[in-house]
Amino acid sequence: MGVYDSLYVKDICPNCHKEVEYCFKTKEFGLSYQEYHVGDYVTKANENCYLDLKEYCPECGYEKELVFEIKNGQWTRTLSKDAHNEETKRVPLRQKLKRLESVIAELPEEYINVVEDHLDYIIYKCTGEIE
Ligand SMILES: [Zn+2]
Repeated sequence: MGVYDSLYVKDICPNCHKEVEYCFKTKEFGLSYQEYHVGDYVTKANENCYLDLKEYCPECGYEKELVFEIKNGQWTRTLSKDAHNEETKRVPLRQKLKRLESVIAELPEEYINVVEDHLDYIIYKCTGEIE
C-alpha cells in the first residue's frame, strides 16, 4: 500500500461508452492522500510539468492514458496522449518563429525584401495563397 495523491477525471470510456469518474494515482507531488480535480493547485512549487498517468475504467476495466498538464503548480487540463504529442511537436516551431521574428527585426534594410519574398513563398507553399 503506497502513499499517493488522487486526481479525479470525469470522462466517457472509449470502450463501454459510459460516463465514469477515473481516479488517477500519483506519488509525484510528494503529498499523501490528497484529492484533486482539474483547476486545483497540486504542488506548492511554482512548477510546470506534464504527468503521464494510466488508470482503468471502473465499469469495464479498459485502460485509459491521459497527460496531465501542470502550470505554475496548478493542474490546468488533461489531454489525450495523441493531442499532447501533437501540441509538443508544435512548440519548437513556435520558438523558431519567435527567433525568426527577432532576426528579421535586426536585419539591414537591403535584406528585408529577400526575407519577405522567402516568407511569401513559404506561406504560398503552405496555404496556396499569395499574401
Ligand atoms: Zn469502460
